[in-house]
Amino acid sequence: MCYAIPGKVVEINDKIITVEYFGEQKKARNEFYNLALGEYIYAQGGLVIQRISEREALPVLESWKEMFHELAQVDKNLARETKTMYEKANAVRHKYSGNSCCVHGIIEFSNYCKHNCLYCGLRKDNKQLKRYQMEPDEIIQSAADAINLHGFKALVLQSGEDDSYTAEIMGSVVKSIMEKTPILLILSVGEKDISFYKRLYDEGARGVLLRFETSNPQLYKKMKPDSDFNKRLELIKQLRDMGYLIFTGFLAGLPGQTREDLENDIKLTTALGTDMFSFGPFIPHPQTPLANENKPSLELALNAIAKARLACPEAKILVTTSLETLDKENGAKSGLMAGGNSLMINLTPEKYRKLYEIYPQRAGTDIKVTANISRVIALLRSIGRAPTDLGI
Ligand code: SF4
Repeated sequence: MCYAIPGKVVEINDKIITVEYFGEQKKARNEFYNLALGEYIYAQGGLVIQRISEREALPVLESWKEMFHELAQVDKNLARETKTMYEKANAVRHKYSGNSCCVHGIIEFSNYCKHNCLYCGLRKDNKQLKRYQMEPDEIIQSAADAINLHGFKALVLQSGEDDSYTAEIMGSVVKSIMEKTPILLILSVGEKDISFYKRLYDEGARGVLLRFETSNPQLYKKMKPDSDFNKRLELIKQLRDMGYLIFTGFLAGLPGQTREDLENDIKLTTALGTDMFSFGPFIPHPQTPLANENKPSLELALNAIAKARLACPEAKILVTTSLETLDKENGAKSGLMAGGNSLMINLTPEKYRKLYEIYPQRAGTDIKVTANISRVIALLRSIGRAPTDLGI
């Protein structure tokens, strides 16, 4: 986003390059450009997404120079405490990733879904939900606004499992977005045929957000009665092998989930070779069969983040907006201080935002995008995080 810093290419080793940000070096994978030493790039999620000229890069770097070192010092000071599990996880995050923190935008383009997951407000049997589908041009325009008006460098395109968006339609959406300004484009559209994902990969999409939700096959079957656990895992592996960055993880606090399940959830996230861990707390939706279940505590989600950080020190760990729903004031900050190093901002057009109701009263649905961006930047600055790429 506007909160992004370009880096200078200082080493090239085939497709793996070393990028320098104010003396700090990070590795990134370069698939798209014939780069030379000394050139400037933007990277996201460890992937080079844009080459920019020195004329464009230097003023941005100049504007960040002083602040970058100030932020690094703030983060270092905050990471000194190591008494609680959260503080230990934060110290590990600081040791392995420095103060880098990425911020992705998300556009939720359809709330139709053919499935009936017990925990989800978009389930097809929820007849009280007003449904919407954005036109392809509307998706492209929303992405253009996110990129050009707000400066986002990574975007998630998300929907329920809505088969009306075919490979042809989504392929042309991805192509159109990438032709105008290359970014890290992440798909969160559920289980699709592998040819769908191949088509979108060929058009330039490079990330897939597909959670496995629980590592317990029996619990999975109960929560997702019309989906197959092994098939989902197989798809995640196939997508990783195709070259997609994989964003996956689970729901913490599902009814019937045990402590052992949660430990296994973290292990499975790691075992899948995940590029970005994504954990959300289960929040009951009133129009689902789980309406009367208890909302989990913020601590449960924070524990999952902290344990994942301690188990996998170099992980990129997303702090989902559901944490802010559990605690509006401190949810995001607490997640970042428990080992998280990535955030998402909702960029869905205002008229649709409240309708993507996977759970009720989602944070970020009643605030203007510009105000939300300012709020996130202020939060990141207050805890010393800078938008250098997290690297690979
Ligand atoms: S979790 Fe996903 S697949 Fe299941 S009902 Fe919700 S949107 Fe559909």
